[in-house]
Amino acid sequence: MTRTFASKLCPVCGGSRVNGRVTFTADLGEVVVVVRQVPATVCDQCGEQWIEDTVAASLEQRAADARRRGAQVEVVSMA
Ligand SMILES: [Zn+2]
Repeated sequence: MTRTFASKLCPVCGGSRVNGRVTFTADLGEVVVVVRQVPATVCDQCGEQWIEDTVAASLEQRAADARRRGAQVEVVSMA
């Protein structure tokens, strides 16, 4: 699961968090939204991921748009 966290260290394993890009997937029931190239911080040891609040808000917006259009599967890229 992705979540936000302020520290530089991974709260799960104590590893280093590095900037990277991840693929975000959300199953909303009527629609599955896949967003590729999402900017995130990723633990270099356990792979735990964090997405910033502003990015998460953008993802929610895209999911809401897809649902409004009646899409069943939406695949987009933030790159
Ligand atoms: Zn970790």
